[in-house]
Amino acid sequence: MSLKSKLRPLHWKDSIKARLALWYGGVFGTVLILLGVLVYFYLSKSLYANFDLSLQSTAQALAGASSTARPPSEWTVDDFIDWMNSPESLSKFFHFFDPSGHSRFQSRNLPKQTLPLTSAAFNNAAHGAVTFETFFTRQEEPIRVLTYPVIQNGRVVNILQVGGSLRQVEDLLKQVQFTLLSVLPTLFLLALAGGWLLARKALQPVDAMAQVARQITAGNRSRRIPVHQSRDELGRLAETFNAMIEELDNAIQQIRQFSADASHELRTPLTILKGETEFALRQARNVEEYQQTLASGLEEIDRISRIVEELFLLSKADLGEARLEMKPVALALLIADTVSQMELLAKEKELTLEAEPLEPLSITGDGDRLRELLLNLIENAIRYTPSPGKIALSLRREKGEAVLTVSDTGIGIPKEALPKIFDRFYRSDEARALHPKGSGLGLSICQWIVHAHRGKITAASEPGRGTTFQIRFPLTVH
Ligand code: ADP
Repeated sequence: MSLKSKLRPLHWKDSIKARLALWYGGVFGTVLILLGVLVYFYLSKSLYANFDLSLQSTAQALAGASSTARPPSEWTVDDFIDWMNSPESLSKFFHFFDPSGHSRFQSRNLPKQTLPLTSAAFNNAAHGAVTFETFFTRQEEPIRVLTYPVIQNGRVVNILQVGGSLRQVEDLLKQVQFTLLSVLPTLFLLALAGGWLLARKALQPVDAMAQVARQITAGNRSRRIPVHQSRDELGRLAETFNAMIEELDNAIQQIRQFSADASHELRTPLTILKGETEFALRQARNVEEYQQTLASGLEEIDRISRIVEELFLLSKADLGEARLEMKPVALALLIADTVSQMELLAKEKELTLEAEPLEPLSITGDGDRLRELLLNLIENAIRYTPSPGKIALSLRREKGEAVLTVSDTGIGIPKEALPKIFDRFYRSDEARALHPKGSGLGLSICQWIVHAHRGKITAASEPGRGTTFQIRFPLTVH
């Protein structure tokens, strides 16, 4: 299934942009509402408190005036004209009662409907305490009233009521309420739009990345994501993404190369086998000739099955399914044993094969695989060393590692070929000419065996003078 068919259209609920904008708007809106409620709450509280305070200070001033001047029963309107004219008093009214609660005197601006002196307020005043009450006139106008005892020589001589309309306070609060209610939704909408724009801007590079990724999936593997700002998170993501595409591209190239190489390597022996068989069948032949053809065919079949087996081993290794039986292995003994096994082959090619020095070192490993590694390296050395020549193995301990070397005085490896010799199916032209039946998989297997033992394998070579393979294994027995 292509990526395009897998991608369904993005629902707005799945869009990070929409969710970010909603979150942003939601958080901002909640903060605004909380702030609005707080402002309204504190404003109304302080307005009411201030109103009460102004009632109280008016009452105090009136009480003071009444105590220092004539007795309240003798007061005239003139006595209060000055006070009445003062701006802060204009909106207030007052009413004097005698200690038994009978009206004595009142300001002219007192609302027509007389305010009651409630029994609670009267009782409080009789005991020298003030009382704040709120009444509503017939026109639903809220009136705040303070009942205040005027005390002289420890005796309540007058009960004073000072009142004022709360209309202005309430109007102001209503105005604030209206402003908040009309501004908050607008601010919330602005926050949503701001959140959307911010998210869009922030996520634009991600959209660009998705677009490039789609092009890459569609087959354009040379495309890369433009990295404008490599310092921020998205820049780093783009770089990582590009590196990943690069690696994927390389892996795909390698797989293609590998398939081409594998089919080529398998086709060669198959073509030989087919050609020889067809040639033999073209006319009647004697038994010897048939035997020769069959023997040669068997050789090619052997080669094919070796390649297939080696490929199978490598693919199992790639999948992590190639099991190793890890046990303590006396490496020096294994080398000596393998060398004696290969001595005859070396002698046939008039080559000397030596193993010295061999320090008695042991590692944890798979004995069979390690023998395979040694056989491959010695076989290669014999193969690519013309006589007279020498092949030498050594095993030394160095910095907590077992260092094994296999060197020869053979044809060597050209400098440009050195980095490729561990690649699957790689064979140098010279090696192909010298040994046409090689598979080019031997060193890949060697490398896998070494890596599976947590070791390292390197090659150094001088063309025409010889090659040295060095393998370092971590030592487990000291
Ligand atoms: P094969 O030996 O079947 O070609 P290998 O994977 O064992 O495959 O080796 C890969 C290539 O490395 C060889 O074709 C050859 O070019 C080079 N090579 C390996 N060992 C030696 C050596 N001892 N001397 C020179 N070249 C070598």
